[in-house]
Amino acid sequence: MEQNSKHIELSVVIPTCNEEGNIRPMYEQLCLVMEQVHITDFEFIFVDDGSTDQSLLHVRSLRVKDSRVKFIQLSRNFGHQNALKAGLDHATGAAVISMDADLQHPPALIPTLVEKWKQGFEVVYTIRRDDQKVPLLKKWTSKGFYRITNKLSEIPMEEGTADFRLLDRKVVEALRQFNETHLFLRGIIPSLGFKQMGIPYTPNARVSGQTKYSFSKMLRFALNGITSSSAKPLYFSIYAGLFFALLAFLYGLYAVYIAAFTSEAITGWTSIIASILFIGGIQLIMIGIVGIYLGKLFIQSKNRPLYLITEKELKS
Ligand code: UDP
Ligand code: MG
Repeated sequence: MEQNSKHIELSVVIPTCNEEGNIRPMYEQLCLVMEQVHITDFEFIFVDDGSTDQSLLHVRSLRVKDSRVKFIQLSRNFGHQNALKAGLDHATGAAVISMDADLQHPPALIPTLVEKWKQGFEVVYTIRRDDQKVPLLKKWTSKGFYRITNKLSEIPMEEGTADFRLLDRKVVEALRQFNETHLFLRGIIPSLGFKQMGIPYTPNARVSGQTKYSFSKMLRFALNGITSSSAKPLYFSIYAGLFFALLAFLYGLYAVYIAAFTSEAITGWTSIIASILFIGGIQLIMIGIVGIYLGKLFIQSKNRPLYLITEKELKS
């Protein structure tokens, strides 16, 4: 991995997918904040994740005037997490902040992140405090996701933590060793150790454009998150199997009793069909869970790169 030789104080990594309306406001707000924290030695790295709009054109035009604006253009859409990884791999700052391009992650929080970093914290993450502006469905699904994930995984993830955080160079270097596919940084970072600190914030509304996370995409993201940080779902089938085997045994006793001591034999067709269907359903779910892990192993076994770069402009 090539690196700029000069060490920069602060990098801001911004995964960008069709955010043409947000790039300029983002740049302007970031510049204001950099003035506030008296950092002139910074870089903003926009990672263009296969945008089909004018996003990259806007970034290029900013770069003409300010070479601290840098970019990496991925060869296609690799997804938010991989775009983020590309940015982290190429950032040179002593501290690296990652945030969304749509200004939902308020740049005004950056001074606090930097202050905590200067106090010695190596991971300064943020905790989203939702207010009324967030759609109820998103709020509930997000709550449910963190609750389930935390039940299942060994290392708890705080509710509302997103990919808006500051990482010290040490942590960024540690992350370089994580080249797993289906990357899920939210689950990895709490498990790294280091001195961590969380800061609450209220998200802004998206400035321009639309969210890239539909309900089905969020569901996939959640399933990916759970199966990335925990192998516990694989054990479900054992517990479920034991449970149903016990039920079947009891029901068997009952059937024997009916046949031996009553004249009501050959009833119970309904219960047989019902239990076959029910157990069949459970089996399908369990096979599905195993399938998810198997699929991940399959993809991982190919050991393909997480992202491919078309072009990059990273010189200061
Ligand atoms: N993003 C990306 N690749 C994708 C989807 C999203 O780089 O495939 C970026 C997007 O441009 C934004 C951030 O990831 O900067 C978060 O996406 P979005 O705002 O759509 O998600 P939400 O905030 O609605 O959860
Ligand atoms: Mg957003």
